[in-house]
Amino acid sequence: PSPPELEALHHADVAGLLPVPAAESDKYRRGVVGVVAGSARYPGAAVLAVAGALRGGAGAVRYVGPAGAAVLARYPETLVHAGPPADAGRVQAWVLGPGLGDTPGADDVLGSDVPVLVDADGLRALDMAAVRARPAPTLLTPHAGEAAALLGTDRADVEARRLEAVRELAARYGATVLLKGSTTLVADPDPGVPVRVNPTGTPWLATAGSGDVLSGLAGSLLATGLAPRDAASAAAYLHGLAARRAAAGAPVAAHDVADALPGAWRDVA
Ligand code: AMP
Ligand code: MG
Repeated sequence: PSPPELEALHHADVAGLLPVPAAESDKYRRGVVGVVAGSARYPGAAVLAVAGALRGGAGAVRYVGPAGAAVLARYPETLVHAGPPADAGRVQAWVLGPGLGDTPGADDVLGSDVPVLVDADGLRALDMAAVRARPAPTLLTPHAGEAAALLGTDRADVEARRLEAVRELAARYGATVLLKGSTTLVADPDPGVPVRVNPTGTPWLATAGSGDVLSGLAGSLLATGLAPRDAASAAAYLHGLAARRAAAGAPVAAHDVADALPGAWRDVA
């Protein structure tokens, strides 16, 4: 029999994925996540990506980019670097893209030998050959508009065939792809692996900056050692639960979702 095409994510599956630090852990062994995000124009995206990354299980978050002052003002625990990512020190995974604008040199991160999550501005003009040639896994997290640009089509076309679109992107880029939206889908580059469907989303998540929180969270889970498909699907699950907790029937801001992540994690674990 052919394998199922779709796989729904359940509470117990996610519980089994969440990292638990060993008694003898230290912050480096828990994993360090690097965040390359933000710009003079969009410093807030860096703050929100760091907010997600601080709640995803990594032992430390390194921020690299021009929004260091804004990040530190909100999250003094962040390790901030103003120079290029290559000089920032070792990380176990990178998050590239939220609010990046055209910050020069940022896409050097694609040359690194650790997993890289690419979102938002990092997806613009993303070099397919460079992604396919990477020595470590890549996770792309487009919304429908970004997915359409990558596929050379329009948003309505992606919305009309989301399952096909997410599979096509994963195959073309040789990457794991999380396609955001009312039902978030996660496709593996191996076409034999079922696409995961996240059931926890809520339309209250349709608010500016919520995607930046998701990319930081997923990148942090990647840095703890989760496989890209597991990091992406656990992040989508927790992000949706956090939004439900924070919203409870009322509008929420993206930073409320980040603040609700520890409670969502406790609900699952
Ligand atoms: P972005 O478009 O990058 O800001 O990300 C938006 C986030 O909100 C993603 O996690 C989406 O999956 C989520 N989202 C947006 N609209 C909806 C919706 N109608 N229902 C559930 N989740 C949504
Ligand atoms: Mg976004």
